[in-house]
Amino acid sequence: MSVSSHFSASYEEARSKFLDAAAAAGATLERFDNPAENPRGVDLSTDVARLGDPAAPAMLLTFSGTHGAEGFCGSGVQVAWLADGFWKEVPDSVQQVHVHAINPYGFASLSRTTEDNIDLNRNFVDHANPPVNEGWPKIQPVLCPTEWNDGTLDQMKAGVEAFVEEHGFWAFREAATSGQYRDPKGIFYGGSAPGWSRRTVETIVGKYCKGLKQLAVIDYHTGLGPRGFGERIIDHLPDTPGYGRAMDWYGGDASSPYLGTSTSAKLTGQMLDWIDRALTGTEVTAIALEYGTEPEDKVIGALTSDNWLRFHGDLSSARGREIKQKVRDAFYQDANDWKQMIWDRALDTQRLALQGLTR
Ligand SMILES: [Zn+2]
Repeated sequence: MSVSSHFSASYEEARSKFLDAAAAAGATLERFDNPAENPRGVDLSTDVARLGDPAAPAMLLTFSGTHGAEGFCGSGVQVAWLADGFWKEVPDSVQQVHVHAINPYGFASLSRTTEDNIDLNRNFVDHANPPVNEGWPKIQPVLCPTEWNDGTLDQMKAGVEAFVEEHGFWAFREAATSGQYRDPKGIFYGGSAPGWSRRTVETIVGKYCKGLKQLAVIDYHTGLGPRGFGERIIDHLPDTPGYGRAMDWYGGDASSPYLGTSTSAKLTGQMLDWIDRALTGTEVTAIALEYGTEPEDKVIGALTSDNWLRFHGDLSSARGREIKQKVRDAFYQDANDWKQMIWDRALDTQRLALQGLTR
């Protein structure tokens, strides 16, 4: 059977495939119900599958759906790993925890953010003293229009080009995407408090990951870089042991936003950074595996139009349906060649992580 069959067309289908594959592998399952109301009336949950000896000193931990609609990719990988028996490659000294749809609202609603419009991967800050994104007030009017018509994307493109002309490409990338804490109706909003998904991460890490000697984390994302290519982004600062281990494990085939070798800007409030800091005494080696989908202007167009739709548009209108289709295409390519590329890179990465954990 082709690996494509492990990918899904909806959150419900993805969840059902994950639960079936986890049960067939003999995993212990735990469900975290998300109380948010979804526009389609779907019950929402994050599901956790655990395999192996809970006393094993090392763990492979994977996440799908940190950015909601990006979850089609990570879910397909988790299901393939479980359903096709690759989980059996894991030695006895390593336990596995696979977290499915950590942002279930975004996954089910075809949105990047949570029920509170929070970007989960910007939410892990001290909210009493949040970071200040100085470029955000300048780029906000360009990227968060209150009206949307056929000329909006062209206007946005011109606004972005003017910003880049004046401040440079990386200044734009950081202003737009690194995270902002002042505009709850804006894109890349990090929240004003820990949201449900962050609190669930904290519960999962507290319950499953305490006392480990070694932890490998792979957080699956989409939307940046060339179509189908999987970029291993290291969140650890370049002068830390975590960075050194990740470069070593992945044979140098990894990137760092701090060294300018990544497609990603430096971010604030990242989940992997929080996990690393929370587990003192554990050697944490964490990467985001970021896969390309469509050209960047299409991805930005999808997430800005989705943001407009949420606060100013009508989900049931023709434009609303068109925007949701564009969001899906921007974060998930429903094509066999793309899915095969996703899986090949994921399998290689998870195998290298296991080698690193047992070295
Ligand atoms: Zn992402």
